[in-house]
Amino acid sequence: MPSIYRPVQFLKTVGPRRAERFARLGVLTALDLLYHVPRRYEDATTVARISSLEPGDEATIIGRVVSTGVIRARRGLRVFHAVLRDATGQIECAWPGRPWLERTVRKGQLLLVTGPVRFYHGRQMQPREHTLLEEGDEAGEPADSEPAAGRVFPIYPATEGLSHRQIRAIIRVNLPTLLREVESREPFDPGWRSELSIPPLRKALETLHDPAALEDVEPARRRLAYEELFYLQLLHARARHRQKTDAVGISHSGERRLSEPFLRGLPFRLTGAQERAWREIEADMERDVRMYRLLQGDVASGKTVIAATAMLKAIENDRQAVLMAPTELLAEQHFRTLTGLMEAVGVEPEILTGSLSVRERQRALERLASGEARAIVGTHALIQADVRFAAPGVVVIDEQHRFGVEQRRLLREAGERTDTLVMSATPIPRSLALTLYGDLDLSVLDEMPPGRTPVTTGVRGPESREAAFQFLESQLREGRQGYIVYPLIDESEVLDLRAATEMHERLSERFAGFEVGLLHGRLSGAEREDVMRRYLAGEIQLLVSTTVIEVGIDVPNATVMYIEDAERFGLAQLHQLRGRVGRGTYQGYCAAFYSGKEPPERLEAFARTTDGFELARADLRLRGQGNLFGERQHGVPEFRFAELERDSDLLEHAWRKARKLVASDPKLERPEHRQFARDLVERYGRSEALYEVG
Ligand code: ADP
Ligand code: MG
Repeated sequence: MPSIYRPVQFLKTVGPRRAERFARLGVLTALDLLYHVPRRYEDATTVARISSLEPGDEATIIGRVVSTGVIRARRGLRVFHAVLRDATGQIECAWPGRPWLERTVRKGQLLLVTGPVRFYHGRQMQPREHTLLEEGDEAGEPADSEPAAGRVFPIYPATEGLSHRQIRAIIRVNLPTLLREVESREPFDPGWRSELSIPPLRKALETLHDPAALEDVEPARRRLAYEELFYLQLLHARARHRQKTDAVGISHSGERRLSEPFLRGLPFRLTGAQERAWREIEADMERDVRMYRLLQGDVASGKTVIAATAMLKAIENDRQAVLMAPTELLAEQHFRTLTGLMEAVGVEPEILTGSLSVRERQRALERLASGEARAIVGTHALIQADVRFAAPGVVVIDEQHRFGVEQRRLLREAGERTDTLVMSATPIPRSLALTLYGDLDLSVLDEMPPGRTPVTTGVRGPESREAAFQFLESQLREGRQGYIVYPLIDESEVLDLRAATEMHERLSERFAGFEVGLLHGRLSGAEREDVMRRYLAGEIQLLVSTTVIEVGIDVPNATVMYIEDAERFGLAQLHQLRGRVGRGTYQGYCAAFYSGKEPPERLEAFARTTDGFELARADLRLRGQGNLFGERQHGVPEFRFAELERDSDLLEHAWRKARKLVASDPKLERPEHRQFARDLVERYGRSEALYEVG
């Protein structure tokens, strides 16, 4: 039998080009493809017949496009129109302000649309969402394509150049073979499964890709959710076990030659939360057990100051302190901040990123190896094979969810006994944090430094856009900067590169006289950083972005954040976006624009509070009501299938089983546990799994 880990490229109808695109979706192997399950389903039984639509209805219909066009309405607003027909009749659909749809929605296509029906020269629908079900053929009517009643349409997460329809077709031809291959990988015996009423893996995957009915989907999802929770708990259980049996660390001394004057010299007093976190970190560093701690706090809660203090504690012990950031831009930002902070105690940080010249790099490497460099800030460049540290004492990792587990391990091994502090700005409730980062100890900054003015937040309908633009313009005129963020609508490929470009053109026209920059998903990392750098330097005043702007980027002059189609973002993402403005002395403003009839509850929760932890709780509460698999949450990449609120029974069970298993067979050597070891390696990286076991 071929390996289930074979590259997806070798599956039927895939090939190298599509494989590259699959890689963007995280699908690398045949097994990944099996786990690439639909994000939701459209059930043709709930689809309304076009003839039955009445103004005032909120409906989903499926129809073939019979004609399209763009009409100029009042005040220059261009409206894209498409007439859709099904077996019972036809209706006009209108998308105000989206003329670029003309390029993606074409005659002959089969579309599924959802939105309100109103009366406007006859019945008209204003789709909030549309999904292309099938490409059409302009010449003829494809015969068997109309959805039969009761058929469930899986809608797959897609990407530019690989539509959900293509993915559906690829999965359809490969599914039978792959399901046979996966049969032998069942790790949970029937007794175990029946405790939870979950189906075997093969059955679950088959159901998710090709459900006979919608109600079969939930038990199948629970199966994958359980697996996901179980392996994470297993990973934690093994890490804990290992830490107990072998974890010699560095005992930093209680001497405070640098850290104390540093704290005393700050122009502010630490908040209670910072005090507490610092005491915890300091105690960890003085103990001869290795520190492995998460410092969690909302954007601007004061994590960097604490990280700097920890670094100075290592340095006063004649050791080196390393801070690693996920991008060059963030590394540079930390470098500037730390340079400013540490100046008072006479420590000069070094920077090591990929953009140093060969010479500069060589010199930096020498200073790292000789111990001359004491505080070092950098990117992945810090974990390359030729990097040697003389005496690392503490490693700080910023925004850890951007790093793979493997990279964390490499960094930890930079010095085999170094203390590690992970900083995360994703505000999640304590209980959840313990679950997600069960192998870490936790310090939380749940208190903001005093005197902050919260970002003024509004939730706005499309009719307020012009007024909002005027406000933005007045801010730009005062010398401030702004962001306009659009979600990537990957399902329908609406917002392709041309659309982004056109939007950029429109906004450049609207904000003539200002430099309008564009960030989109097709830019390389270097190009993206270049745009951000120009924004940071003030050369670009308004940044239009179809991708999420760097987490943690700090442009104190930026005051306005507009988020378009805000209902497409998760609460955590919205909060992160809002955190980009109001970072300096200027008041920040954020508006979330929704395109439906009224704002979803999530947006109202967003406007109500700027407390990240409160939002995180609201998010957990509201998520169960959204998509079947919820949204991919920023900073919580581990969970694709599980929803902690809804699946707390699974989590509890997984936690208990994992600990029991590790207590009885820490290395997972028994034959009946081999599959667990294999799966753990598959999920969390070969070396991580082995390393954690020791
Ligand atoms: P984070 O790293 O959590 O985003 P920072 O450490 O960068 O937060 O702090 C954000 C801003 O708040 C910085 O300008 C910092 O100097 C300031 N700051 C940090 N702690 C305090 C405090 N206790 N009181 C007042 N200002 C503070
Ligand atoms: Mg910071």
